[in-house]
Amino acid sequence: MLVLAASNWDVKTFVMDSDEHCPASTCCSIFVKGSQLNFDDVISFGNRVDMITFEIENVNIEALKKLKSEGKKIFPDPDTLEIIQDKGLQKEFYQKHKIPSPEFLLYENKDEIIKAIETGTLTFPFVQKLRKGGYDGKGVAIIRTQKDMNNLLPGRSVIEKQIEIEKEISVITARNKKGEIKCFPVVEMEFNEGANLVEKLICPSSLNEETITRANEIAVHLISSFEMCGLLAVEMFVDKTNNVWVNEVAPRPHNSGHHTIESIITSQFEQLLRAIFNFPLGSTQIKMPSVMINLLGEPDHEGAVRYEGLTECLGIEGVKIHLYGKKKTKPFRKMGHVTILSTTIEEAKNKAMIVKQKLKVKSW
Ligand code: ADP
Repeated sequence: MLVLAASNWDVKTFVMDSDEHCPASTCCSIFVKGSQLNFDDVISFGNRVDMITFEIENVNIEALKKLKSEGKKIFPDPDTLEIIQDKGLQKEFYQKHKIPSPEFLLYENKDEIIKAIETGTLTFPFVQKLRKGGYDGKGVAIIRTQKDMNNLLPGRSVIEKQIEIEKEISVITARNKKGEIKCFPVVEMEFNEGANLVEKLICPSSLNEETITRANEIAVHLISSFEMCGLLAVEMFVDKTNNVWVNEVAPRPHNSGHHTIESIITSQFEQLLRAIFNFPLGSTQIKMPSVMINLLGEPDHEGAVRYEGLTECLGIEGVKIHLYGKKKTKPFRKMGHVTILSTTIEEAKNKAMIVKQKLKVKSW
């Protein structure tokens, strides 16, 4: 989606991925097979381009730092990425910059956590998050009682106070080198219980003005504190008493911003390009209310992909389908998304329910 936005501006795009059939491989200018975690792959890729950005946090930091020291333009900065890659460093950053985020403690391993429970320094309930490598809820364990202790994850982790969540929201914000900042409208996220993936995303949110202002202030404060050049997706919790807490951030285009392609004047992808080219940031005004749903592989299907209900769903007004072109489906694999535009959120939600029932990702 970033490559498609770049093609509007005649930007030559190089994409590196370990899978030569990855979605971007068919629409970028040059595809390079390689691992973003491999030092040599990142260095040789970086040497071929003028500017680098990334759409995944797991990139070899040492390679990015070396390229930066040699004068390569990298957005967001590898130092920012290094903090965000580690949830422990993220939490310390929030503390330092007075960003509201659930109280936390850091532990080196499972045994330390067990000991802390035994000695009473830690009490139930709490949320354990692996410091590195987690995504889509993998690497997070909610420990409510002693019974859940079997679910503790091995490894260095952040232990967080459990928040009584009323709503999970996201604000995607952009900043260019000149320091201009713009936020996309607050969106509400609804999760798929089984897969812990964002299932439905609603824009605009139904939160009151005060909470929306607070969420925007936090997102602006965060991106300014990072002095970032690029996009920062800020995932937040609104608790039962309307306090806003930062859960985590992602320094890249985000699933909670895919609706912007159709429902906002500037998409998150165009905004990222504007930010890193130091152009004026584009308008983030809503064109139409929207609901976005992820197209996930059906639980019982694995193998060559086929889509059921495509023609029928394309016949519904306001339904915009994006298939990523992944050749194989797996249970809960993200295979695409659908944005449903309508004059009211209620109608968009109703149409989203129909699309969810009819459009299925299966295998042959
Ligand atoms: P990931 O990085 O894998 O997306 P998150 O940190 O977003 O993981 O956590 C996944 C989910 O766990 C969140 O969307 C939320 O529902 C729940 N969660 C995370 N932290 C807390 C917390 N402190 N209190 C309550 N629920 C939490």
